[in-house]
Amino acid sequence: MIKVNYHTHTSRCGHAIGRDEDYVLNAIQAGIKVLGFSDHAAYHLNRHTERMTLSKVPEYLDSLRALKEKYRDTIDILVGMEVEYYPDQWDTLQYYREEMDYLILGQHSLGITQASSYNCKTPEHLNAYADSLEEACARGLCEYIAHPDVILFRYPRIDEHVYRTAEKIADISLKYDIPLEINCGSGVHRPMMTYEDGIRYPYPSRAFLEVFAERGCKMIIGLDAHDPRDFLTDIYLQKALSIGEGLSLNIIEDFDIREAADRHKKSFY
Ligand SMILES: [Zn+2]
Ligand SMILES: [Zn+2]
Repeated sequence: MIKVNYHTHTSRCGHAIGRDEDYVLNAIQAGIKVLGFSDHAAYHLNRHTERMTLSKVPEYLDSLRALKEKYRDTIDILVGMEVEYYPDQWDTLQYYREEMDYLILGQHSLGITQASSYNCKTPEHLNAYADSLEEACARGLCEYIAHPDVILFRYPRIDEHVYRTAEKIADISLKYDIPLEINCGSGVHRPMMTYEDGIRYPYPSRAFLEVFAERGCKMIIGLDAHDPRDFLTDIYLQKALSIGEGLSLNIIEDFDIREAADRHKKSFY
């Protein structure tokens, strides 16, 4: 098991399960030293079972900060959020930027009322997605990019547009010094999916990992835990890593997310 995980959900989002404290206890049992909670950010517009409501955010902070204090001698707990780049929700994002220990970017939709990233099938979608990531990083919104390949979920084939998108994301990562995640969440928790060019996991994407390895982008492993038991198995971690087998990925284990958050808080606009 890894020692640091910044991608942990709570039951508030409606599709994760378990008590907050069970995530902490299982992480301790697994030997995790730094545990970052990053539940799905709430906005003014919400779809049910996708994220908590804005009114639950104070309780989210209180609960996790109490656990941080309770277990301070055993495990280093950080309280963050997994946010989207939604320019029309900027007041809310600014609040998260100020209040949370750190933010990760999980661009689950192209916009709060636009296409879901899980349902994008055209090169235009890929471009719009990469543009959102770039703007988010340019504006200091996030410390790392979660599942950068989520946009390939329903994209029908690995073609030149996929490689071009991976190159754009690699450029963003290098330009803004933002690590990219190897995600061990729903992409590898589900069965493989059928695409025009074969059967595979939707993400992580081998094509993306090839480009990220070639460019030497900083990579960070994220469990994307939605169940306390996710800390007690290596199965999904091994599945995700097997997708990049043989590539010299620049996986970093000493990412100082607090330092990165301080830096991005200053450049946030
Ligand atoms: Zn989730
Ligand atoms: Zn997540």
